[in-house]
Amino acid sequence: MTRRVVVVGGGISGLAAAWELTGGAEPAPDAPAVVLLEATAHLGGPLRTDEVGGRPVDMGPDGFLGRRPEALDLCREVGLGDELVPVAARGASVWARGRLRALPEGHALGVPTRFWPTARSGILGVRGTLGLARDALLPRPDLRGPIGDRAIGPLVARKLGQRVVDLLVDPLVGGIHAGAVDDMSAAATFPPLLAAAQRRGGLMRNLRAEVPAPDPDGPPLFWSLRSGMASLVDAVAAGVRRRGAEIRLSAPAERLERKAEGWTVWSGGASTDADAVVLATPAPPTAALLRPHDDEAAALLDGIDYASVVVATFRVPADAVPADLYGTGFLVPRRSPPRTPGGDPWAVTACTFLDRKWQHLARADEVLLRASLGRIDDTRPNGWSDAEIAARAWEELGALMGLTGQPSESTVVRHQAGLPQYRVHHLLRTAGVEAAAARLGGLAVAGAALHGVGIPACIATGRSSVRAL
Ligand SMILES: Cc1cc2nc3c(=O)[nH]c(=O)nc-3n(C[C@H](O)[C@H](O)[C@H](O)COP(=O)(O)OP(=O)(O)OC[C@H]3O[C@@H](n4cnc5c(N)ncnc54)[C@H](O)[C@@H]3O)c2cc1C
Repeated sequence: MTRRVVVVGGGISGLAAAWELTGGAEPAPDAPAVVLLEATAHLGGPLRTDEVGGRPVDMGPDGFLGRRPEALDLCREVGLGDELVPVAARGASVWARGRLRALPEGHALGVPTRFWPTARSGILGVRGTLGLARDALLPRPDLRGPIGDRAIGPLVARKLGQRVVDLLVDPLVGGIHAGAVDDMSAAATFPPLLAAAQRRGGLMRNLRAEVPAPDPDGPPLFWSLRSGMASLVDAVAAGVRRRGAEIRLSAPAERLERKAEGWTVWSGGASTDADAVVLATPAPPTAALLRPHDDEAAALLDGIDYASVVVATFRVPADAVPADLYGTGFLVPRRSPPRTPGGDPWAVTACTFLDRKWQHLARADEVLLRASLGRIDDTRPNGWSDAEIAARAWEELGALMGLTGQPSESTVVRHQAGLPQYRVHHLLRTAGVEAAAARLGGLAVAGAALHGVGIPACIATGRSSVRAL
């Protein structure tokens, strides 16, 4: 009997699941028949690469962490090993106290682990630095003892002061999720911080023990692909097709029906029978598909909300940009004072110096800048036209980094509901959903809503969902 598995969702998580189902590193002769259903006309979700000035420029994720192996492994397995490019610049800045200031050495996702480099950075000012001094000399005990989860913002504020949260931790950790650390789960997004906070003694010292300092001579921390991140999507899709999998585009799964053994998946009036189903979709469609079978799992998924993000990419003549750009870019803290008292808050949350970060994008006569806008608590860009977003982003970049003139080209790409928010006790939510899927049988869940939004974590959920089946 031929077994068949339907994968719902053609983002990187669903593609990784399809790859694993067809054998993973080695094609499996006894692999089940695989059908992948993708609602839209393209695969890869936010992984999109466009040509800008003759270069392949990413409009969504522009790279991935190498500290975890999953993305590097997948790239090599699908034949892209020679296409991998390491990050070319180190360091970044943050907009603090009226100008861009280099992030200090010795921080873990923005949480300082050493007093002096952070004090010298000038980011925190005297009042903010006092909080660090107190943690080094007279650390505040943890009032609550070991518990399963805490909100990152209040946890760090209690130990190191609110300015550390506002100027360092929120821009870095919050920025990754386009969220806010005020109610973000430490257990789900930064487990070493939770472990460090629950030990006796200073947070900075405990975190030093939990997170080994990056080895300057070690392998690069961040990687990309010479032809852009969409080349990973294309290579995985081509690989699974070569192994006999069928990929159906513009084919949203609308309903799951339980059979005596297995499932029927309905899409556009057509049904596909399957022995097993992987749901690699964002939380809202996963909830809708699960609701008739387990309304509690659906309710747990309904509790995950999403932030929308917009990226504006600019080709800029080199002479319009200050010569002393530092590192890979800069972050603009959420609670930065507006440019004029009582004025409109900054809309730009971050800027990446794309051609400094990735050497293969560099040209002598121009610079590639990418501004990010939009967060869970700033939905203003949703109401602006592309032209308004480009104009606003350019004007703010001018004020933040001293640009002159005009860009020679700008591109605006929207990622509607692009990033799930992991609120406190997120892991209880995901455990409940995974347990419900296991109870139903022949069903597994994957995707960015579960165990990390980064590409390696998404690939891991895709591949492990197959093993769970
Ligand atoms: C702007 C931006 C920048 C980012 N930068 C980075 C970065 O630099 N590095 C990094 O590691 N990560 C980054 N991320 C995060 C990472 O890209 C995502 O978390 C990841 O791509 C999510 O993959 P996924 O497959 O889980 O979800 P998705 O890519 O959202 O895939 C889910 C798919 O399911 C489809 N779908 C939905 N409903 C149905 C249905 N009913 N039937 C069939 N299909 C359906 C959707 O159309 C979609 O294609 C970034 C994210 C964004 C938005």
